[in-house]
Parts: sequence; C-alpha cells; structure tokens
Amino acid sequence: MKIVGIDLGTTNSVIAVMEGQEPTVITTAEGTRTCPSVVGFSRTGERLVGVMARRQAIANPERTLSSVKRHMGTGFLFEVDNRQYTPQEISALILQKLKADAEAFLGEKVQKAVITVPAYFTDAQRQATKDAGTIAGLEVVRIINEPTSAALAYGLDKDVMQKILVWDLGGGTFDVSILEIGDGVFETLATCGDNRLGGDDWDERVMNWFAEQFQKETGVNLERDRPAMQRLKDAAEKAKVELSRLSQTNINLPFLSSGKEGPLHLDLDLSRSQLERLCADLLNRLIAPTKQALSDSRLSAADIDRVVLVGGSTRMPSIQELVRNLLGKEPYTGLNPDEAVAMGAAIQAAILNEEVVGVLLLDVTPLSLGIETLGGRVSKMIGRNTTIPTQGKETFTTARDGQTSVEIKVYQGESELAAYNKLLATFQLTGIPRMRRGEPRIEVTFDIDVNGIVHATAIEQNTGKQQQIIINNAIGLSLDEIERLSKQVAGS
Ligand code: AMP
Repeated sequence: MKIVGIDLGTTNSVIAVMEGQEPTVITTAEGTRTCPSVVGFSRTGERLVGVMARRQAIANPERTLSSVKRHMGTGFLFEVDNRQYTPQEISALILQKLKADAEAFLGEKVQKAVITVPAYFTDAQRQATKDAGTIAGLEVVRIINEPTSAALAYGLDKDVMQKILVWDLGGGTFDVSILEIGDGVFETLATCGDNRLGGDDWDERVMNWFAEQFQKETGVNLERDRPAMQRLKDAAEKAKVELSRLSQTNINLPFLSSGKEGPLHLDLDLSRSQLERLCADLLNRLIAPTKQALSDSRLSAADIDRVVLVGGSTRMPSIQELVRNLLGKEPYTGLNPDEAVAMGAAIQAAILNEEVVGVLLLDVTPLSLGIETLGGRVSKMIGRNTTIPTQGKETFTTARDGQTSVEIKVYQGESELAAYNKLLATFQLTGIPRMRRGEPRIEVTFDIDVNGIVHATAIEQNTGKQQQIIINNAIGLSLDEIERLSKQVAGS
C-alpha cells in the first residue's frame, strides 16, 4: 500500500506519491497541483476545503479560516457559528481532503502519510501536526523537516558529495538548513529559522498600506469592514506576486466601500521598490538565522556548494538578491518552489515503504532541550543541532523526607533563563518510594525521536522501579480528545 507525502503549508498544501522512482504531485479534485490551506463553512453549514473555501473568503470572511499553521501548537481556538475549533481540527480537514484526492488518484485507500513541518517547529507544533493527521484518519509514519525534504527532492540523483544550504521561505515560516549530501546520505549539519515569518507578513504590510492610502483619500477607515479587508488582502498578495515579475502594478478595486457621495473605489499604483521599502525590516529578519546556521555548522559561505531555494516567497527578486549578497552565490532555482517539499516527503515515504533503497537521512533537533533548575535557570541536556534520534539523561532526587513526587519542567530554546524559553511540558514523577531526602536517585531519560518529538521515561536507581510520569502538556490534545475528534471528522 502506498504511503503519501504531504506538505501541509501555511498558504498551500501539496500531496505527492512515488510512482516508480519518480515523485509525482497528485492533482486535487478541482484540478490544481496545490491546494489552498483554507477551510470554509458555508451559511448552510457545509464544509469547504481548498479552492472552494478560498473562493468564498470574500463573501463569507467570518466563516473562512486560513493560515491555520501559524496557530499549531498553541492554545488558540477558532470560532465559527459559536463553535470552537482547535488548529489541529482545522488542519485535519485539510489533510482529509488531500487524503480523499489521493485515494481518487490512486484508486486505493490511503492510510499512511509522511507530513512535513518547518525545521524550526517545536515539540508542541510537531505533536499538533501529528495529531491533525490522526484526526484525519491518517497514520503519520514520519514527521520530516521541510528543508530536509526539499534536499531529498534536490539530491536524490546526485552522487558527488556537496554541501547545500536550503533556504525555505513559504507563506508563514522561514527555515534555513545546511546539509551535506551525496551517495545516498543526507546529513543535516545545522538548522535555524523563524516560525513566524513568511509571505503572509509581506501581504499584511501591503494590505495595511492600501487601507492607509484609501483612508487618506476618502476618509473611510476599512479596518472593521471584514469583506473589504479580505479584498485588500487578496489584492495585496496578487500585487506582491506580480511585482516579482513587473516593476510596477496597478490595484483597482471598484465598490470597495461607500461614502456620502456614493460608492468608493480603490485605484492605486505600487512599484517594486515601494514594496521593498514597506517590507525592508522583514527582509532583514532573514539574515540572522542564516548566519546562525552557518556558524553552527562551522562553515563559511564559501564552503557552500549550492544554495537551494524553496517556498513560494523565494520568487521575490529582493529575496534572491539578499541570498546573493549574503552567500556570494547565484541561488539554484531548478526546483519547483511550491512542490519540492511534498516531493521530498513522497521520497521519504517510499524509503519507509522500502520502494527506494540505499538512502540514509540524518536530521537534527532544531532547539536545545533543558530542564529548569534553581533560580529559574535552565540546565541543557541536549544541544541544538544534535542528530536525532538522541537521548539525554539526568538524575533527580527529593528535597524533603518521605517526598513521593517531584515536578520537572522541560523547556526548548537557547536562553539560559527558563522564562525566555518555550515550556514543553511539566513532568510529574510520582510513586517515588518513601526515603530520606536526597536518597532517591531518579534517572530521567529524555528521548527525541526521529520525528523530533520528545518522550520521557524515569527509573528510581535504588529500587530499579520504573516511575510513572504524568505529562502536563499545557496545549496538546489528550488521546481521548484526538479519538473523539477523529470520529467527528470521519463522520462528516
Ligand atoms: P508556500 O507556502 O511555499 O506555498 O508559499 C506561499 C507563499 O509564497 C505565499 O505567501 C505566496 O504569496 C508566495 N508566493 C508565491 N508565488 C510568489 C511570487 N511569484 N512572488 C512572491 N511571492 C510568491
């Protein structure tokens, strides 16, 4: 049975499958190769996913949800018609649609998938992605990092050893990964990024500028007019995309609003250099992660043989110029930036399914893992860019006589202070045998699996007894919740 590869993107999602030794993008039921990551609920309660949902966004903005990926792994809830949805549920609806499209294409049931995530995703974001798959009725056999996936698509047929830097700027996230590839081995040396930076931010800048210009001209503030703002957002993205090809574009939105004298229209020109000025600081935010990845891999720009661009936003000339300036190289644009990640996921799926042999993928954990110690400091157990799977061990004891439980707080991030890192989970070690304080020796092992997801086990060394660990993950879904939601999605 086939395993599919899915790029679950902020703006668009793509599903691919290996046919023979070639990854193939599966066309959606609507005939497109990418599926907008948009979910809509029509006024009659019907659920729309993809192109159809995007089409109704202007007429029905309150019932249209997009850029869901930005909220994965957070406690954010969407609300439509007085019903709340977690980001996992909405993502599951997108995955379910892709699954159905793949089943129609392949003529067989699809039950297993490899899903990609930004390399810089935290444990909570990875777990949320996996849970979305489960809710959609898919067994997520592997979570793979997007730049690593793109590297697979780039390098499957390359024999010569080379160091590549993958620069991935999509709709909502930015990743940079440095890999050494060749002879079937793909080894990530370092990765860095920004989970909250992507083409959406460029659109928002342009949209706000449109709104400002409109207000200057007409005195009408559109901020609370959701259909008008949705039209501005769509026009902003369209203008941005056009300015990758043209140096000037015109934005014409008739009947955007109305004033005392009747209907009001928007008619504006935007030049590429104006766009670049509006977004200069966004562009600057791409520099630090790139430098960090280079320094973490102990390489200089001159050591990089190839810079591979992926993600739709890398089509912007300003981005390609920045890459040239930063890395002193002409970027390689031979991969389709919208499809490379899904294709790599299909290759990884085929490796797991043993359809492709002789390929070894070694990835890293993007963030350091540590536990809180006295004074709110973090003691690091696993450093960033450690090859996964990996393990870290730490021994804990009690502070009071007869104490039977200990709380451990686990963080991900690079700061020495717990407060500046991301709380991954609170582990409660319970059932510790009653002993004098300091006597129990509880060894806790933290494992980061191949998906970049953290697991913990604990053993009391004196008694050899496995300790129970209760994980209080502030934002994740419980297994019961996942099962309940999965039944709901399947029944829809
Ligand atoms: P992805 O997540 O890789 O599908 O990337 C989607 C993002 O790429 C969106 O923000 C798009 O607006 C953006 N994008 C796609 N094509 C272009 C283009 N030609 N110029 C600028 N941005 C683009």
